[in-house]
Amino acid sequence: MQSIAKVLKDHGYSATRPRKLVFMTLLDKEPQSMGEIASALNGVIDRVSIYRTVTLFESLGIVDRLSTGWKHKFELSDSFTKHHHHVTCIRCNKIVSFEESDAIKQVLKEQAKQVGYLETGHQLEIRGICDSCQ
Ligand SMILES: [Zn+2]
Ligand SMILES: [Zn+2]
Repeated sequence: MQSIAKVLKDHGYSATRPRKLVFMTLLDKEPQSMGEIASALNGVIDRVSIYRTVTLFESLGIVDRLSTGWKHKFELSDSFTKHHHHVTCIRCNKIVSFEESDAIKQVLKEQAKQVGYLETGHQLEIRGICDSCQ
């Protein structure tokens, strides 16, 4: 797993306190909306800094943006977490993560190969209706 300080440094950014705190807020957590990140750091970092930091992290590939209906949630990218995907409930937006089978990974690789690409990554999101909303 990569160190956040190193990734920032490699891109010419320093590991400032707000950057470290936003990273820690996302570490080993379920995907969070900008509002959820802001309320976790309420009184610690101002909203503008949080917003800027998340935007920077996204542009550096430190966080991934997930679409949940018309909203977005953020989580650390594969460099900082185990590779996984999500199932999102279309009614209550509850998100559950899962790791796809090797068979699916293979199919995705072959799919890319069929159009002449060497697969380097993918996104795979499932939408559905959760237990309690069914
Ligand atoms: Zn995958
Ligand atoms: Zn639900």
